[in-house]
Amino acid sequence: MLHSLQALDRAHHLHPFTDFKALGEEGSRVIERAEGVYIYDAEGNRILDGMAGLWCVNLGYGREELVEAATEQMRQLPFYNTFFKTTHPPVVKLAAKLCSLAPANLNHVFFTGSGSEANDTVLRMVRRYWVVKGKPEKQWVIGRENGYHGSTVAGLSLGGMAPMHDQGGPRVPGITHVRQPYWFGEGRVGEERQDPEAFGRQCAAAIEERILELGEDKVAAFIAEPVQGAGGAIIPPESYWPAVKAVLAKYDILLVVDEVICGFGRLGEWFGSVHYDLAPDLMPIAKGLSSGYLPIGGVLVGDRIADTLIEEGGEFFHGFTYSGHPVCAAVALRNLEIMEAEGVVERVRDELGPYLARRWATLTDHPLVGEARSLGLMAALELIDPASGERFDEALTAGNLCRDISFRRGLVMRSVGDTMIISPPLVISHEQIDDLVSLAREALDETA
Ligand code: PLP
Repeated sequence: MLHSLQALDRAHHLHPFTDFKALGEEGSRVIERAEGVYIYDAEGNRILDGMAGLWCVNLGYGREELVEAATEQMRQLPFYNTFFKTTHPPVVKLAAKLCSLAPANLNHVFFTGSGSEANDTVLRMVRRYWVVKGKPEKQWVIGRENGYHGSTVAGLSLGGMAPMHDQGGPRVPGITHVRQPYWFGEGRVGEERQDPEAFGRQCAAAIEERILELGEDKVAAFIAEPVQGAGGAIIPPESYWPAVKAVLAKYDILLVVDEVICGFGRLGEWFGSVHYDLAPDLMPIAKGLSSGYLPIGGVLVGDRIADTLIEEGGEFFHGFTYSGHPVCAAVALRNLEIMEAEGVVERVRDELGPYLARRWATLTDHPLVGEARSLGLMAALELIDPASGERFDEALTAGNLCRDISFRRGLVMRSVGDTMIISPPLVISHEQIDDLVSLAREALDETA
C-alpha cells in the first residue's frame, strides 16, 4: 500500500518547493494522520511536529470544534461569494472579530485564499491608494533581501528570496530590496563586526538611503515580516523597528507588516505588530488564522487607506472566488474564539515562550551551535563548523543533514541553509518542549 502510494506520488505529483528529480529518487514520506502536536507517518512513526505544519497549525491537530464548525457551515451554506453586494454571517463575524483583535487603526478586512493572495492585494491597494491621493509618483515598494511574501508573481517580487528571483520569469517592476537585520549572518561577521543594536540601526538607515536614491517622494510602502520566518527565524535587534518606524514617518511611506507567520500568537501577542509596537497601514494574514485547517488569508486595512478608498468610490477591480469563503471563515472564527477562550496567546507570552527560551538556550553548549535564539514559539539554531567556530563554507549540507536526522528521530525541524528552525503548535506542553529540545540535541549529536 505504502509503496504504491509513493509510486503514484512519484508518477503524478509535482510538489511545491521541491527538487522533482531528487524526490523521484528518494520518494516522499506519507503522513497519514495527526493528533495534538504529533504527526504519524504510514510506517506508524510518531513525529513531533516542530513546525506546526508550515507555521500554521497553531491549535494543534484533532480539534473537534473546528471539524464541527466546518461541518455545520457546509450544511448551512457551503459556498456563496462576497462579490456583487452579497455577504454571509461567518464572513461578517470574522471580519468584526479580526478588527477587534488587531491594532486600533485596522478596522477593515479584505479576504483572500492565502498569504500570497493577501500580498497581491497589498500591492494593488498600496498603488491605488497613492493614485487616489493624487500622488501617482509614489509607486516604489521597498522589501527586504531574504524576506518571504509568497509565491505568486507579486508575492515573489515583494519577497527578496534570491533563488526565486534567479529562476527568472516575470517580476513586478518598481520593487526593490534592502538588507535584512540578520545579525548572526551579516552583522557579526566581516571587517566591520558590529554590536547587534548598532547593526539594527544601520539596517534601518539602509532603508533611508534607498529612499533617497529612489527619490524621497517616490516610495509608496515598505513591507516586512516582524520576525523574518522563512528567511531563517531572524529576530531583529531591538533597535531596528523603532528606527524603521521613524524613517517611514519622515517620508510618509506606508508600513505593510506581513503577519502571515507572526500573527495569531506565534510571538506571544496576537500580532507581531503588537510585540514591536507597530501601527501597520496594511497587515496581510493567513496560516494561523484558521490554524491551517482550511485555506484562508486576508489583509487588515488601516483607516487611512480604507477611508480613502471608500470615499473615492469606483469599483476596486480585484478579488478571488474564495474571498471570504463561508466554510473557511466559520472555521477561522471558531479558531479565534477557542484561542481567546483558552488564553492561548497569553500562555505563549507568559509561560511557553519564556520556557522554550530557557530550554532552547541550553543547546548553545553544543559544538555545532553558534547561536540559539527564540521569541515566543519561534526559534532558530545557527549551525557552525566546530573546527573553525565559524559558519560552514558550504551552506546547506549540515542543515539538510540535521533536518533529515531529526525527522528520522521523531522531530520536524526545518533547515534554511545551516539555520535550523522550529515553530511548534502553540498548545505544546512543557514536557513536549523538553522532548523537542532533547530530540534536537540528539539530531545535533548525530550530525556532528
Ligand atoms: N507571507 C509570509 C510571511 C509567509 O511566511 C508566507 C508563507 O509561508 C506567505 C506570505 C505566503 O502564504 P501562502 O503560502 O499562504 O500563499
